[in-house]
Amino acid sequence: MTTTLGYAAQGPKTPLAPFRFERREPRENDVEIETLYCGVCHSDIHQARDEWGGSTFPIVPGHEIVGKVKRVGSKVTRFKVGDLAGVGCLVDSCRTCSNCKEGNEQYCMNGFVGTYNGIEKDGKTRTYGGYSDLIVVDQDFTLKIPSNLDLKAVAPLLCAGITTYSPLRHWKVGKNSTVGVVGLGGLGHMGVKLAHSFGAHVTVFTTSEKKKADALKLGADAVVISTDEKQMADQMGKFDFILNTVAATHNINALSSCLKHDATMVLVGAPDKPHSMEVFPLIMGRRSLAGSLIGGIAETQEMLDYCGKHGITADIEVIPINKINEAYERMMKGDVHYRFVIDLKSIQK
Ligand code: NAP
Ligand code: ZN
Ligand code: ZN
Repeated sequence: MTTTLGYAAQGPKTPLAPFRFERREPRENDVEIETLYCGVCHSDIHQARDEWGGSTFPIVPGHEIVGKVKRVGSKVTRFKVGDLAGVGCLVDSCRTCSNCKEGNEQYCMNGFVGTYNGIEKDGKTRTYGGYSDLIVVDQDFTLKIPSNLDLKAVAPLLCAGITTYSPLRHWKVGKNSTVGVVGLGGLGHMGVKLAHSFGAHVTVFTTSEKKKADALKLGADAVVISTDEKQMADQMGKFDFILNTVAATHNINALSSCLKHDATMVLVGAPDKPHSMEVFPLIMGRRSLAGSLIGGIAETQEMLDYCGKHGITADIEVIPINKINEAYERMMKGDVHYRFVIDLKSIQK
């Protein structure tokens, strides 16, 4: 066992603070990774504050992890000591159900093992995430990191990147698609970059007037202030696909009406309260509302390789780990440009 230093919330109302715990010795198929950077996802806040229910404490969040391999087990073939490695939202799954077999481990019918706030397949060991200086993960759930990219800006690809890449690919967004991206935070800004790189015409729907110039710089072709009824009315029936990343309940009916007929809005944002959904915007145009969860391991590798080839990373603000509680407060106000990334060197040993 290796004593590991992380930051944990001890309960839903307590701020994150230093916390020591044990990581297992690498098993034969395991990779031990020294964490260098970890992105800060809004799902970390939802779970640290138990907004979805079912969180177990203490909780060490973090599922956008990049680092360097320190040790490998005897059967590890994909990594050697000193390699870069990444870990996203999953560290295991049953590997035998039909969803796992087709590479959709995130939809494992027997339940995937989350990188944190989960229980390992032994049925008892709790998982702790990347707000910590070390992690031990099975090589089959460890990702290879393109060496040409800025490592700290790669970290957010492990969740924000794949969560937007997967639905954009599934719904075949490409050249000439008209795409809306709702909410310009961690997920949203990756959605804009990726959809733009696939050749789509991208419109950002934001509540923050001051993010307009950034949205255009990130690759958007147009920006709509979603609280402005006149601007929203002008968007009726215009979109082939809408990727909705908003972390809170909002008027999804007005957004559904912006779809063309037969088009889909995918909700990836996961607010703690239910949306109020009207049927008429869907009926009037045979429109669909859908959901999507991160992506499988093979698709996450595909996304990382794609980003390596096309030079795509996140726009980040690097923070020392002792600023994590302030970062959460700023994210709650939408004040994120566009992903906080923790530099784990800052952790006080
Ligand atoms: P984030 O960086 O905090 O960004 C969320 C953005 O949503 C904000 O920047 C803001 O954008 C907008 N927003 C927030 N509150 C709003 C409100 N009350 N009304 C309207 N807009 C609001 O969050 P994130 O890390 O991108 O995560 C977004 C959501 O996706 C979270 O719920 C998270 O749990 C979920 N998530 C889901 C998956 C999945 O697999 N489905 C994976 C990761 C995260 P503007 O300022 O532009 O309006
Ligand atoms: Zn996430
Ligand atoms: Zn499975």
